[in-house]
Amino acid sequence: MRDDLYCAVDIGGSKILLLLIDGTGNVLFREKAATPRPEEPAAIIRTMETLLQKANSECGLEAKSKPKGIGVCIAGFLDHNKGLVYQSPNLHWSEPVPFGEMMSKAFKCPVIIENDANAAVVGEVYFGAAKGHRDVIYITISTGIGGGLFLNGRLYRGSSGFAGEIGHIKPFGKGRTCNCSGNDCLEIWTSGTGLALSARSLWSESDHGGDKLDTRWLFEQAESGNTLAEEIISQTIKNTGRGLANLVTLFNPSCLVIGGGVAGNRSDYLAGVAEQIKKEAIKPSVEITPFEVFPAELEPEAGIWGMFALLTGRVVD
Ligand SMILES: [Zn+2]
Repeated sequence: MRDDLYCAVDIGGSKILLLLIDGTGNVLFREKAATPRPEEPAAIIRTMETLLQKANSECGLEAKSKPKGIGVCIAGFLDHNKGLVYQSPNLHWSEPVPFGEMMSKAFKCPVIIENDANAAVVGEVYFGAAKGHRDVIYITISTGIGGGLFLNGRLYRGSSGFAGEIGHIKPFGKGRTCNCSGNDCLEIWTSGTGLALSARSLWSESDHGGDKLDTRWLFEQAESGNTLAEEIISQTIKNTGRGLANLVTLFNPSCLVIGGGVAGNRSDYLAGVAEQIKKEAIKPSVEITPFEVFPAELEPEAGIWGMFALLTGRVVD
């Protein structure tokens, strides 16, 4: 186990994070690199090769000590079984990319790919906030909203790998087109992007000394007594709780894990979301058996640890 090496990678829109981990979970190497522009698949693979070469030389590994497997998580619509990325808006991939096959050719070892939020829920279940839980909903609220479902002790991917897109359940609010081109998705109202849109619909940057009217600004305004800002935030907490209450009613999870930057703006954000869930979910789901809302524990590496769990066969697949 100690001699086995695994490589877990998170490919994001701005950076690529690569960890080399041994079979017992010791991190031997951790390094970030900027995501190449344009985000060509071949260029991304070259960046990973450079990082792995650095890992080999820093860890004193011979070139022949290849990882037993490479696991990559990416934000996007992808098929884990086929190794095919259909679309990744963050990487500006709009046509299918056989990324799994491209990587196994380049690295000559088994490669798996996974959606980043799916990987994150697995990470939190095996190593983080939801350890020991068999039915978990994970949601990350930042610029957008991502989600992952871990049901009945397994990652639930859906028929083609696209399950868990919690950010695009609808409708919430009225009259806003989401980045997915749908109308009034949860994300376009309650993510960081949604909060900033709400702020800009009421105030202009020139009225506020050129301040950037973003999520942090809105929270600061509410903190200093701006009642309208406070109203936007409390409505956002309610909408988030309502969306999640529907999922709790549907799946009866034992816990829900919330990650991403938005919740960190206020100490009682998660408690507010939890309260709303308990108000709106069907009562037995939140009253008869224990149900808890936890902050994510592994950020920003939840996806990495999920890939490690998948690579090492910890997950029933
Ligand atoms: Zn949407």
